[in-house]
Amino acid sequence: MEKRSEIAQLGEFGLINRIANRFNSENESTVKGIGDDAAVIDTGKDFLLVSTDMLLEGVHFDLSYMPLKHLGYKAVAVNVSDIAAMNGVPEQITIGLGMSNRFSLEAIDELYEGIHAACANYKVDLVGGDTSASASGLVISITVMGRVEKEKIVYRSGAKNNDIICVTGDLGSAYLGLQVLEREKEVFLTNPDMQPDIEKYEYLVGRQLKPDARMDIIFELKDLGIVPTSMIDVSDGLASELLHLSSNSGVGIKIFEASIPIDSQAFETAIEFKIDPVTIALNGGEDYELLFTINQSDYEKLKNHPDIHFIGHVHDNKNQNVLVTKDELVMPITAQGWNHFSK
Ligand code: ADP
Ligand code: MG
Repeated sequence: MEKRSEIAQLGEFGLINRIANRFNSENESTVKGIGDDAAVIDTGKDFLLVSTDMLLEGVHFDLSYMPLKHLGYKAVAVNVSDIAAMNGVPEQITIGLGMSNRFSLEAIDELYEGIHAACANYKVDLVGGDTSASASGLVISITVMGRVEKEKIVYRSGAKNNDIICVTGDLGSAYLGLQVLEREKEVFLTNPDMQPDIEKYEYLVGRQLKPDARMDIIFELKDLGIVPTSMIDVSDGLASELLHLSSNSGVGIKIFEASIPIDSQAFETAIEFKIDPVTIALNGGEDYELLFTINQSDYEKLKNHPDIHFIGHVHDNKNQNVLVTKDELVMPITAQGWNHFSK
């Protein structure tokens, strides 16, 4: 019998590593291949940045609560976010679209209305793609291209001992928005006369349905003359992204529970769902905020920024990635995140 191994045993990152190990770069222009938020290609004057992100119906979105216009916007925003994470500026996208005959022309128009709005907001040109019928559901795969000055490129791998760890915005809200939408969907399916009760959760639902890439932060850092030492966007949850920064940089990180930015609506809703708000900030995904490290000498310039939070620092003990709780317990940060309830 032929051997059959389950992909789930390797996990997503294990699978990507396995693929990466099988390939060597043939071209001198390939500066960075698999392993960062975007590939880096030497075009002579600047670096070209390229990244692909795919959204699948039933996996990444549910059209019973995701309006197509928002979906189009989000598909672009999540791609732009990976260019931001390299300290770059997006310029073009191409779109691969798969759709079943369930979708009308009007539906696709709506999707592209959102795509158009995002292109206008991020000043990105739609320059191509591919269209196909799909056996089931909707698939949107976007490739984004961006540019960065060579000396301004920021990788996941540049964090240094004593650097300060910064994160923008707030964390966990997008995940909670999804929980609210899922709950209201269940209520609606059981009793279609019930009106969805999402007004109270408007901010959280907005964070799930209408995420924005933090290009504003990239432009501000540029104006301030700050180049982070390392950076990643928060798509999978703070814990997992912190571990990417520390392992790629060969350092350790220490963060403080009390400094993790959590919105008050997120805090209250987490309690309502009987989940720990910090666990959600660490493990909930799709916030699309930026997580980066700066040299201490840049702290003065950022310290009063209303939307940048200083959550900890880098140290040189590379096997120690820890979170210090409000009661000063030191807990290891794991890829699965850290569970407040298990202490
Ligand atoms: P992000 O969350 O920033 O989008 P991912 O975790 O999706 O990053 O991907 C990590 C790295 O693996 C990136 O460099 C990406 O280009 C690469 N990658 C992901 N899937 C594949 C694949 N199927 N084949 C080759 N490279 C891949
Ligand atoms: Mg990313």
